[in-house]
Amino acid sequence: MTHIVVLGGGIVGISVALSLQKDGHAVTVIEPAQVGQGASWASCGCIAVGEVVPLSQPGMLRQVPKWLLDSEAPLAVRPATALRMLPWFLKFAANSTEQRMRAIAADLAQLTFQATADFKSQMAEYGVRDMLIERPIIKVFDGEADKATMGGAFDLAREMGCTIDDISGAEAHEIDGAIAPDFRYASVLRDWSFVADCVRLVQQLHTAFEARGGRVVATSARGFKRETHAVTSVVLDTGEEVSADEFVLAAGTGTKALAADLGVTLPIEGLMGYWTGLPEPQVDLKHTVFYPAGGFGITPHENTLAVAGTIEIASLGAKPNWRRADVLVERARRVLPGLNTANPERRIGRRPFVPDTRPVIGRPAALGNVVVASGHGQLGLTLGATTGRMVSDIIAQRATNTDMKPFSPDRF
Ligand SMILES: Cc1cc2nc3c(=O)[nH]c(=O)nc-3n(C[C@H](O)[C@H](O)[C@H](O)COP(=O)(O)OP(=O)(O)OC[C@H]3O[C@@H](n4cnc5c(N)ncnc54)[C@H](O)[C@@H]3O)c2cc1C
Repeated sequence: MTHIVVLGGGIVGISVALSLQKDGHAVTVIEPAQVGQGASWASCGCIAVGEVVPLSQPGMLRQVPKWLLDSEAPLAVRPATALRMLPWFLKFAANSTEQRMRAIAADLAQLTFQATADFKSQMAEYGVRDMLIERPIIKVFDGEADKATMGGAFDLAREMGCTIDDISGAEAHEIDGAIAPDFRYASVLRDWSFVADCVRLVQQLHTAFEARGGRVVATSARGFKRETHAVTSVVLDTGEEVSADEFVLAAGTGTKALAADLGVTLPIEGLMGYWTGLPEPQVDLKHTVFYPAGGFGITPHENTLAVAGTIEIASLGAKPNWRRADVLVERARRVLPGLNTANPERRIGRRPFVPDTRPVIGRPAALGNVVVASGHGQLGLTLGATTGRMVSDIIAQRATNTDMKPFSPDRF
C-alpha cells in the first residue's frame, strides 16, 4: 500500500486526501489549525461555475493608484507591501493583456465546468448531500456605469459557456424579496450554486476521512528530507519526521514556503478577504447576492448570513484591517434593507493567489514524488473536489481529458 502525506487540511487538502484514500492509499494529513480555519472559513461559499475572468485584466494598471490610495475600496493594495510585492505585481501585470485574459479564462473554464459534478459526487460519497444549495446567484447594479464594469467579464464568461441572464432590478426583487427593489439592473448566474456552511463542509469531510482510517497530525510541516529527485520525509514542527512514498503540497498560502524548501518557486501571495457572519439578520434571503460596486457577496448560510469579499493585496503576515469588514456590513444594508447587523462574527481569509489566477496542480519536473495542489485564489471551494480527483489521477498516472499544462508548477 502506498503511503501519501498531504500537507494542509483546508478544502483542497482534505479533498485531495479523500480522493487518494478512495484509490486505496494510506493517507496522512498534516494540519496545524482548527479544521476549516484557513482561507476556507472566510469563503462566500459559492460553487462559482464560470467565474473564469482573471483578476489581471486589460486597463488594470491605470487602477493601481486608486488601489493604493483608498484602503476601503473593494480592491486595495497596502502601500507598505507594494515594494516587497513588486516582483509578484510585475508578473500579475504581464497577465493583463487581452490575449492572456482570454487564454486564462479558457483554462479556468475547463476546470470550473467540471466542478459541480465533482462536488456532487464528493457529497454523495461522504454523506454531505445537504450541503449544496442549488440556487443561482444574483448580481445587482445601481446603474449603467456599474453594470458596464461587469459587461466584458459577462460576455467572456458567456463565450466560455456560462448562462447569465440580464434582468431588471425589480425582477431581482421578485425572485428574492429580501433584495432591495430599487436596483436598476441585475444578472442571474444560473450555473452557480452555494454551500450551506463552509466550515461544516470541511469538518465533515475530515470526519469522513478519519472514519475511513485516515490520520490527521495536528502540527505544521517545516521542511523535508530528500534524495536527489525524491522527498523521503517531511519534518514537522514537533521534530517528528513522517516518511511516505508521495507528498502533496496543499497548504494554501503555506505552500509557498514548503515548495521553496524543495527548491520550487511558487509566486503565491495571500490576497486577503473579509467575512462577517450575522447570526440574526432578520431578512429572509434565499439566494447569494453579489454587489460588485462594493466587491462583496451575501450568502444565506444555515446558521448565519455571511457578508464576504473584497480583495486586499498585502504581504502574507499582514495584520487585518477590520475597518474593511465593517464597511462591507454597512454597504450590505444597501442590498438588504432592514438587515440586522447585531452580534457580528468577523473572519479573515488569505486566498492563495498566483499572478495568472490559475491554480497550481501538478508535479514539479525536478521531483518524482511531489504534487502541488494550491494557488486556487478565489476558486478553492469551487475546485476542491475537482482538484482532489485530478491529484489522484496524477498519482495513479490515469489519463484525463483535461489539459494540465496551464496548471503546471513549473510554469512560473
Ligand atoms: C472573502 C473570501 C471569499 C471567498 N469566496 C469564495 C467562493 O465563493 N467560492 C470559492 O470557490 N472560493 C472562495 N474563496 C476562496 C477560497 O476560500 C480559497 O481558495 C480556498 O479556501 C483555498 O483552500 P485551500 O485548502 O487551498 O487553503 P486553506 O483553506 O487556507 O487551507 C490551507 C491549510 O494549510 C494549512 N497549512 C499552512 N501551512 C502549513 C504547513 N506548513 N504545514 C501544514 N499545514 C499548513 C493551514 O493551516 C490551512 O488550514 C473566498 C476566499 C475569501 C477570503
